[in-house]
Order: sequence, then C-alpha cells, then structure tokens
Amino acid sequence: MSSCDYDLFVIGGGSGGVRASRIAAGFGAKVGVAEQYRYGGTCVIRGCVPKKLLVYAAHFREDFEDAAGFGWRLEGARFSWPDLIEAKNREIGRLEGVYVRLLEECGVRPLRGRATLLDAHALDVSGQRIIAANILVATGGWPHVPGIPGAEHCITSNEAFELPELPRRILIVGGGYIAVEFAGIFHGLGSEVTLCYRGEQILRGFDSGVRQHLSREIARKGIRVLLRSEVTAVERSDDGSLLARIAGVAGIASSRCDAVMCATGRRPSTRGLGLENAGVRLDAQGGVVVDPYGRSNVSHIFAVGDVTNRIALTPVAIREGQVVATTLFGGGHAVPVDHESVPSAVFSQPPVGTVGLSEEDAVERFGEVDIYQAEFRPLKHTLTGREERTLMKLVVEPGTQRVLGAHMVGADAPEVIQGIAISVKAGLTKQQFDATVGIHPTAAEEFVTMRAKRVSSRAAAVRGSGQPV
Ligand code: NDP
Repeated sequence: MSSCDYDLFVIGGGSGGVRASRIAAGFGAKVGVAEQYRYGGTCVIRGCVPKKLLVYAAHFREDFEDAAGFGWRLEGARFSWPDLIEAKNREIGRLEGVYVRLLEECGVRPLRGRATLLDAHALDVSGQRIIAANILVATGGWPHVPGIPGAEHCITSNEAFELPELPRRILIVGGGYIAVEFAGIFHGLGSEVTLCYRGEQILRGFDSGVRQHLSREIARKGIRVLLRSEVTAVERSDDGSLLARIAGVAGIASSRCDAVMCATGRRPSTRGLGLENAGVRLDAQGGVVVDPYGRSNVSHIFAVGDVTNRIALTPVAIREGQVVATTLFGGGHAVPVDHESVPSAVFSQPPVGTVGLSEEDAVERFGEVDIYQAEFRPLKHTLTGREERTLMKLVVEPGTQRVLGAHMVGADAPEVIQGIAISVKAGLTKQQFDATVGIHPTAAEEFVTMRAKRVSSRAAAVRGSGQPV
C-alpha cells in the first residue's frame, strides 16, 4: 500500500515488539512502534529483569549466613529496601534508554502513546492518525486479580516492585511462577511470608518431584505454605494492616499481614485496543488467535508474545517477533517458532530449571518411562550446615532411550538446564548423556552419572505406586 505511513506498525515496545521492529527495519521496512508506558515492556520494566535483581538481593541473607561456615565473620549487615529499589530503578531506566536507542539506530520510529485500531489499517496514537500496511499487536499481558471482596486492597507484581517499604508480613495468593518467586524474594529480604495456593501442590504443570521438592525446601526455609486454601476476602483494619480470610484444609481461617499480593495469573492485554474494529479474532481469555507465523485471521494483522496466550516467556516472544518480521519482509524464509521443549526456570530459592516432559506428561504420552533421579546435599552445604538439598531428574523413553525431560531444583538450576536443554532439544539419548564426562566437583555432573533407574507407568500410577503429587 503506497499511501501508508508505515510498512509495519507495532503496538507495544516490549521484547517481542522491539525485536520484530528491529528485524523488519533491517529488511528495509519503514517501521513505527507505539508504547503507552515504558520501552522494554514487562520483562525489562516490571518482570524478569527487576525480579532477578531482587532475587540476587534476597539471596545475600543466606550467603551471609553460609559464609560463617567458611570462616567469615560478618557483623552488622543491614538491608535497606529503598536503596535496593532505587538501584533497581536506575538500572531499569538505563535499559529502557538502551531499548529506545537500539530502535532509533536501526531507523525505527518509537512513539510514546496508546495506540488503538480504528479499522483494519488505521490507528490512532494519542490523537495522531496513522495508516499502516501491516500491524503487529505486541501488547503483552496484565495481572489478573480474582474478584473477591477487598480485592482493591491487594497488590500485584506490578506494585511489588515499587512498594515504599518492605512489608513486615505478606500473604501471597497463587502457586505459579510469580507467587513462588516473590515468596522467596520477600522471605529472603526479611518479611514473614505466607503462600496461599488453592491446589494440591504449588507449580501445577511442573514435574511432581520438582513440585514436592520445592514445596518442602521453601517450607523448611520458613515460608508458610498453605495448600488447598483460598483467600475469600481481604479487609483493611484501622491500624492499616490487612486481614485475609482463608478457606481451606490448612486449618487457618485468617492471616493478619501488611500486604496481600495476588499472583493469580496474567491475561492478554487486548481490552480497548479496538481489535474488534478490524475484525481480529480473540480466544476466551482475550488472547489474539494466530497461526504458527503469528498471523491473525486478518491477513495483515499479526500478534506475538503474551498477548497471544501461548507460552508467556520473553525468549519465546523475541523469536515470535523475529518470525513475523521475516515472514513479512524476509523473502519467504521464515521458519515458525517451535514451541516444543522450551526450557524455563522459576527463580525461586532454591531455583528450578526444567526442559521437556514431566514424568506425568511422559507417562501420559508413552505409557511407560524410565526415571533417573538424584537427590543430594550440595558440597557447599557440608560446611554451611544448611539442610537444603538438590534434586535432579531425567525422564527417558524406554525404547529409544531418548531423554524426554530434564528437571532440577537447586543452586544454579536455570544455568545448568539451559545447557542440558540443547541435548534434550536435539533428541539425545541417555547413553549419549552417559558418554559425556562430568566436570568434578559440580552438581551438574549428576546429569551424566545417574545410574539407578525406576520405571514409571500408567499401570503403576493406577495401582497407586506412582509418584503422588
Ligand atoms: P501462573 O499461571 O504461573 O500461576 C497462576 C497461579 O494463580 C496458579 O497457581 C493458579 O492456580 C492461581 N490462580 C489463578 N486464578 C486464581 C484464582 N481466581 N484464585 C486463586 N488462585 C488462582 O501465573 P503467574 O502470574 O505466576 O505468571 C504468569 C506467566 O508469566 C507464567 O505462566 C509464565 O509464563 C510467566 N512468568 C515466567 C517467569 C519465569 O520465566 N521465571 C516468571 C514469572 C512469570 P491453578 O494452578 O489452580 O490454576
């Protein structure tokens, strides 16, 4: 369309949108982006990056304690939440600047303002009318808060990053990534933490061994984990504290705290975007329905990242953005993102790293699988006296001996699993793992030395000898 202002207009300056913009501009396309808040999106501004910085901060508590086992004496350590938040904000501000600069340097025009679709090609960006040949929706997601009485007293991860002071007592609702990550952050920084989850065990969808192990470890550290429990209401008292009413099997009817944080999932950000003006189809949760190339039912409107309600992970969104740009301007060389065996990590304390199938999903798919598992006290803790244990687990297909899944809970699990993920993605076998010489002394060497095998099968699960959740 020659009368267009842009070959591609991107709504949302987060990981997926920025990658698509830069790659498209590299192919010679005229690209504009609109961002209503801050460039960098969830990951950079109030997600992965600041979260990891807070995880580092929280871990110092144990590091200081552990140092004593190695002869160090550290007296008088004090923590300042405002100092941490200020340092975090400085870094986030720097990164935001880097994002904008990267866009400008490759010829993309970054606009500030909210974009809405007026029709299939026209957009309004803060009063400015823009015509685009192609449109990419990369607006991410937004925390979902259950509609319980007193929900207005609750915070989400958005506010958790900006609290004026560290809550002395915090109740976290949910048992997913964000809930367990923030439970570890607040606990490490000194808050009394209660985690309230409605299900049988935290981290639904993860390997059952991982779920049990992490649940045990965080409880051992002092996080109060309430399972099969729901917060039914939150009340503000005269002294400013909150009272969370709880229904469930844990035998605790209420919890007094200074903050209640809902980590109860995220929803695609499509409300008010005007997608209906262009006839774009959404799923039941408001996610844009797309094909493997990110194309919606309207052929020139695409979507990537959390707004598509598939795998809500930054590296996935980045790849999806690249595919859209290549599909549109790369001369037909786009290869869709493979959403199988995507590794992920939970930056809990201890952290989780995982790739491929859980034992339960593998049994479901293959009927019977071989399980290799190691649980041990890491070398470091022989001197610290800390009780924390590491879990490592391989799920193997019996016939081909292909490693279907690898899971770890323990120090550096995300770093270890990133490497192991290459082997799982490549379809390597247990024998190929075993043929690899370990690096000693590391925890990771367990992944190439595990010998003891257990068979896990549908029949065993039915008889009740499978791993309980
Ligand atoms: P998750 O989907 O991981 O977890 C949501 C949790 O909230 C679940 O435990 C769910 O319970 C519970 N829940 C949902 N609705 C209610 C309700 N009405 N009442 C009580 N509990 C409820 O979402 P998160 O918000 O933790 O994270 C969103 C996504 O962001 C993740 O799925 C992940 O893709 C991404 N993310 C990735 C991170 C990483 O890579 N390290 C870190 C943070 C986020 P139930 O299990 O019963 O449904």
